[in-house]
Amino acid sequence: MSHLFYQGRGRKPVLEQARGVYIWDKDGRRYLDGSSGAMVCNIGHSNPNVLAAMQRQMEKATFGYRLHFETEASETLAARLSALMPEGLSKVFFVSGGSEAVESAMKLARQHALATGQPERWKIFSRAPSYHGCTLGALAVTSYTPLTKPFEPMMQAMPKVPAPRAYLDGLDPADPETGRHYADMLDAAIEAEGPETVAAFIVEPVGGASTGALVPPAGYMERVREICTRHGVLLILDEVMTGAGRTGRFLGCEHWGTRPDIVVMSKGLGAGYAPLGAMIVDEKLVDPVLDAGGFAHGFTYAGNPLACAAGLGVLDELARQDLCTNAQTMGEALMARLHGLMQKHELIGDVRGKGLLTAFELMADRVTKAPLPAHLNAHQRLVDLAYERGLIVYSRRTRDGTEGDHILVCPPLILEPAHLDEIVEGLDASLTALAEDLAP
Ligand code: PLP
Repeated sequence: MSHLFYQGRGRKPVLEQARGVYIWDKDGRRYLDGSSGAMVCNIGHSNPNVLAAMQRQMEKATFGYRLHFETEASETLAARLSALMPEGLSKVFFVSGGSEAVESAMKLARQHALATGQPERWKIFSRAPSYHGCTLGALAVTSYTPLTKPFEPMMQAMPKVPAPRAYLDGLDPADPETGRHYADMLDAAIEAEGPETVAAFIVEPVGGASTGALVPPAGYMERVREICTRHGVLLILDEVMTGAGRTGRFLGCEHWGTRPDIVVMSKGLGAGYAPLGAMIVDEKLVDPVLDAGGFAHGFTYAGNPLACAAGLGVLDELARQDLCTNAQTMGEALMARLHGLMQKHELIGDVRGKGLLTAFELMADRVTKAPLPAHLNAHQRLVDLAYERGLIVYSRRTRDGTEGDHILVCPPLILEPAHLDEIVEGLDASLTALAEDLAP
């Protein structure tokens, strides 16, 4: 009997060892980690240089409380991160995960409004669907029914605008009019809500678990930035999944030259070596908050030196192996192979992504975009079929969490062509088995 529980009771094999893109269980079965865990292990498993950096830190100190000491690891990581940010984002607040980072950004936006004499501003706009974390604050800006519905009475409702799912709405994502169309929904919604009541808009540059690697249409991010600036609304970019090289640039927003006011990161920053997250803020926002009495927020493990040493090791490896470039080139190769699978397998209705944040969506009909009946649970069946074949991929419902099936294919950024072949063969066989399974 296990004493553990998570979202369900299902027992999983026990992990024995992980190296590079592979994981072995206690029975000696090997799996290719085609989802980097949950889009976390960007530099691959058990990188010896990161382990050595952590070992060196462990021999010095594994904890230093932030109210008593700074540590060299946290100071250095903050400086290194700010050098990787758009100009002016130079103030770093460490946390231990993505939800904590999002909570921090929501609270900083609110405290900034208070500190600058705008007490009416407290609403945080976000998109539907979206995923920003599972704590109650982060959940309030999340739009994903199975995770949000049970807790609605416990949360402050936050306004939402539709995510730009051009492929479902029959619009051309390459046409700048499409980007403008979706961004203008934000403009209209802020106007309707009262701009003076809105503190921030939070958005994933490339959608993650809720939309399945949704890439914004042309012109969208640029127009969103313009709208936020015009209304005095802070732009928070949730780079928890897209950050640390996942999309082929260090930050996802670099693809569009978007300058955020606040960036939140986690997943690929600690890369599975340590629980680590960060909020990186425009320096102009921080001073008024500190002058007005300080940021009323913080976690015990913030800036943990061991986690920061891991983060520094991860940044070194991303640079040393030029993994952003590899994510870009291997991402293009992966997208081409997924399009190949789409030609062969009727079940695939859409392929999308950027860098090594890629996904495909299963549909009953790729012309009408009709989803498969929800009770078939097709996404989970495909994940199980792949798992049986030694391939790990990640799936979710794609249309507000109640229907639609997408599969995220997001291997570590150290991916090599032979690994890519293995992923595509595993998916090909699993899709054939799923089609047979679903046949009447
Ligand atoms: N934001 C995004 C975009 C995410 O994908 C996630 C997790 O999947 C989170 C926030 C929450 O991160 P965590 O699970 O580390 O709390």
